Amino acid sequence: MTRLVVVGASLAGLRAVEAVRRDGFDGEVTLVGAEEHLPYDRPPLSKEYLAADESPDPRYREEATFAGDLDVELLLGTPASALDTAARTVTVGDRTVSYDGLVIATGAHARTLPGTEGIGGVHTVRTLDDAIALRAALRGGAPRLTVVGAGFIGSEVASVGRGLGLEVTILEALETPLARAVGERMGRALTHLHRRRGTEVRTGVAVDEVLATDGRVHAVRLADGTEIATDVLVVGIGARPATEWLEGSGLTLDDGVVADETLAAAPGVYVAGDIARWPNALFTDVAAGTMRLEHWTSAAEQGGRAARHAVDPASAKPYETVPYFWSDWYDGRVQFVGIAAGDHVEVVAGDDAEGGPFTAIYRAGGRIVGALAVDMPAEVMKYRRLIGKRQSWDDALALAEQRRQQRAEKQAAQQQSADQQGARA
Ligand SMILES: Cc1cc2nc3c(=O)[nH]c(=O)nc-3n(C[C@H](O)[C@H](O)[C@H](O)COP(=O)(O)OP(=O)(O)OC[C@H]3O[C@@H](n4cnc5c(N)ncnc54)[C@H](O)[C@@H]3O)c2cc1C
Repeated sequence: MTRLVVVGASLAGLRAVEAVRRDGFDGEVTLVGAEEHLPYDRPPLSKEYLAADESPDPRYREEATFAGDLDVELLLGTPASALDTAARTVTVGDRTVSYDGLVIATGAHARTLPGTEGIGGVHTVRTLDDAIALRAALRGGAPRLTVVGAGFIGSEVASVGRGLGLEVTILEALETPLARAVGERMGRALTHLHRRRGTEVRTGVAVDEVLATDGRVHAVRLADGTEIATDVLVVGIGARPATEWLEGSGLTLDDGVVADETLAAAPGVYVAGDIARWPNALFTDVAAGTMRLEHWTSAAEQGGRAARHAVDPASAKPYETVPYFWSDWYDGRVQFVGIAAGDHVEVVAGDDAEGGPFTAIYRAGGRIVGALAVDMPAEVMKYRRLIGKRQSWDDALALAEQRRQQRAEKQAAQQQSADQQGARA
């Protein structure tokens, strides 16, 4: 094994090259990226990158680190266009790059609304260039923002828009936003977070046409004929795995690249991050089939794992994980661990009626499989451990009771200390 090639120079790709170098792999390593930018962090792009007066620099590493410490050849600015698994080569522009081990980490592209290409004021948020353009649009003085899609990224942009003082409307096709991601009841609970901050959420609506004058959006027409005037339109309708370059490669493509439990898609070829679809053995008993995640934590984990397997296939072990993601809405945090499948959801702390703070847990097959928290940051990781150990629903309820007592004791201690301070004053 002398040459590792990693295609996709973002989080999973970066973690891939870092992992093998950390392990002492001394062969050649090439990192191929379609974007001109060095690998950068995407979560801030729909949050503080838009909201802060001084945008943070989202790059993970300086350019010198790749040539220096990591000893990685960077091929940026040109997408890989083909893979030949028999010859073990990847085509990048007019170059043919040979590999012994390959990691595919090309992530996903933002979905767009057909017919909106080239209309000014219409944005998606996937890349740094997208975020630069959206930041300027949100801060350009235009008062009305419309977001199509009440998913996590759309919700974050809506939150930033409200924070900047814009009038914000979210248009969602489903009757309950995020029902697929967190279930019906929790989807309703999260919608309160928008409504209580003055963001209008219209559910069960279909966008018929984006109306433009002189090449700039001015309104969205819904299927029932209603027109919603807008200055900026953000399309947050999900992502499509970046598999186009793998057509004809012989890999199994099915909403991602399908891999086995070790993340292997073909001999010597491993997948990582948003593009990877694999059987996550932790959940196959309660949710049959394969899983594809679009979460920062799993992309980072899988990058390292896939690269280690690619340089030493004999060491490949099944990869299983308890999914985790967070999302920042207004000045609060939504966190989710596990999966939202199951037969029962129980609110174990706080109250979901007004959107939180609260914690809810999900049951399937008699065990805990998921947990959602709104503005209770200390909670979900405790349930994540239980889910990872396949612990029972009763264990989860016992933990919930223990946490309730701990919070009550902490609150009583804080109250006592406040009373003592008050008495001294
Ligand atoms: C705006 C935004 C906010 C997010 N916020 C959160 C959050 O709060 N919490 C959370 O858990 N997750 C969040 N995520 C998800 C998280 O960022 C992703 O899961 C993570 O970036 C996935 O990493 P990746 O390396 O698999 O793919 P990507 O980050 O999509 O990177 C893939 C890279 O491959 C490149 N590429 C594509 N095709 C080719 C090709 N043919 N050849 C070469 N290169 C190619 C792309 O240009 C891209 O640079 C967010 C994502 C976005 C977009």
